[in-house]
Amino acid sequence: MQIKELLKQSPSEQEVTVKGWVRTKRGQAAVTFIAINDGSTIHNIQAVAEGGAIDEETLKLVSTGACVAVTGKLIASMGSGQAVEVKAEKIMVYGTADETFPMQPKKHSMEFLREKAHLRFRTNTFGAIFRIRHALAYAVHKYYNDNGFFYLHTPIITASDAEGAGEMFHVTNFDMEKPPRAEDGSIDYSQDFFGRQTSLTVSGQLEGELGALALSKIYTFGPTFRAENSNTTRHLAEFWMIEPEVAFYELEDNMALAEDFVQYVIKYALENCAEDLAFLEKRLLEEEKNKPQNERSELSLLEKLKFVVDNKFERLTYTEAIEILLRSKPHKEKKFQYPVEWGIDLQSEHERYLVEKHFKKPVILTNYPKDIKAFYMKQDADGKTVRAMDVLFPGIGEIIGGSQREDDYEKLLARTKEVGIDPENIWWYLETRKFGSAPHSGFGLGFERLVLFVTGMTNIRDVIPFPRTPKSAEF
Ligand code: ATP
Ligand code: MG
Ligand code: MG
Ligand code: MG
Repeated sequence: MQIKELLKQSPSEQEVTVKGWVRTKRGQAAVTFIAINDGSTIHNIQAVAEGGAIDEETLKLVSTGACVAVTGKLIASMGSGQAVEVKAEKIMVYGTADETFPMQPKKHSMEFLREKAHLRFRTNTFGAIFRIRHALAYAVHKYYNDNGFFYLHTPIITASDAEGAGEMFHVTNFDMEKPPRAEDGSIDYSQDFFGRQTSLTVSGQLEGELGALALSKIYTFGPTFRAENSNTTRHLAEFWMIEPEVAFYELEDNMALAEDFVQYVIKYALENCAEDLAFLEKRLLEEEKNKPQNERSELSLLEKLKFVVDNKFERLTYTEAIEILLRSKPHKEKKFQYPVEWGIDLQSEHERYLVEKHFKKPVILTNYPKDIKAFYMKQDADGKTVRAMDVLFPGIGEIIGGSQREDDYEKLLARTKEVGIDPENIWWYLETRKFGSAPHSGFGLGFERLVLFVTGMTNIRDVIPFPRTPKSAEF
């Protein structure tokens, strides 16, 4: 039985076996207390070995990090903080760990834990983070399933390079000893995948639209890849994206969907991950104490999550946001690194000002200048802006990017050419507007940015089990 289930049992003198990893061992004259965790819960179960019950040799092998199976009666516990504990009658040691095991019971810095990414799973913090990540992923599928969406698997290897100019990883299968050469002698990457150029997907959207214009409501949830060499705390080279795409949805429906969906999954975590969240909240409060008063956050983690679930997101246009930023103190005092003017792509410093200082709640910005957004977004009547939307979150900035899509064949074709994409490359995409086109909308949520927000972590490397960034691809 998993420890999570065992801890819910009442003391019964029944014999149980607990399998897991030793977190701590404390000894007193005739009694040894062993705290064991199997990853099913933040809580440890305590095993008590009373004098003579377990032989000295075995007991010596039980140390922090070792993997053990303890068999004994489930009895009432006086001191472990849990209702029950195991009175050890037999201990089997699967694997020992000596004192060089890095995850000794003390507080480690996140940097240290990142260096030991293969063993950080064995800490309470990462146990909590990855259980919450799992619950959020489950809630994503549950939300869409309950609302009539179909899970569409879009390709990881794609031939469409329409979206990610400069950000794509090529997929290569040719013989590097004898690669195909262009006339000038350079390697001809246009031949790299059995004779054509392919890359790892940066987004499943274009393919997702094909599904939506038939199944009406679809979503994708898969890995996406971007050759981001930016080394920020919010960008990974490999991340998971959730992309709903819905026929007959206009921008307003798209905003309503984004808000309802994000609130649902956060609420799901609040209801189903209470213990892990409480653990992370306590950890964050301790960290806050070391910060100067003016840098401490006003809300605790749980208060922040409840606030987002209970309050409507602010909605305004990009143009209105620029006006607010132009009137803001940091702009007037020239404190923004990137100066504000209509037409700029908002930087996270601007996004975070709007969310954290001005509105103090999540914000949905719409109707961005067309020149800073992708070619497929539906143009507004003024010819200057498009029906785009970004959802901005405190501490993070952009968490969702989406839009109503251009559904007019001629306009889409013209825009494709205008931005320098060869229509031949996306003939299949353009054809969907030729045959039975329909208004439709969708968005992309970066799953790790959601997990960042819910866990209160500050570095995206800490919310994905195996982070891929320019400096980390150890395994
Ligand atoms: P940003 O402005 O933060 O670079 P973006 O506008 O390039 O993001 P989109 O193309 O709109 O990103 O992708 C949709 C969502 O995917 C974003 O809102 C964000 O949540 C997430 N995302 C984008 N790039 C990354 C990345 N490199 N690592 C993790 N998540 C990302
Ligand atoms: Mg980007
Ligand atoms: Mg952006
Ligand atoms: Mg975006």
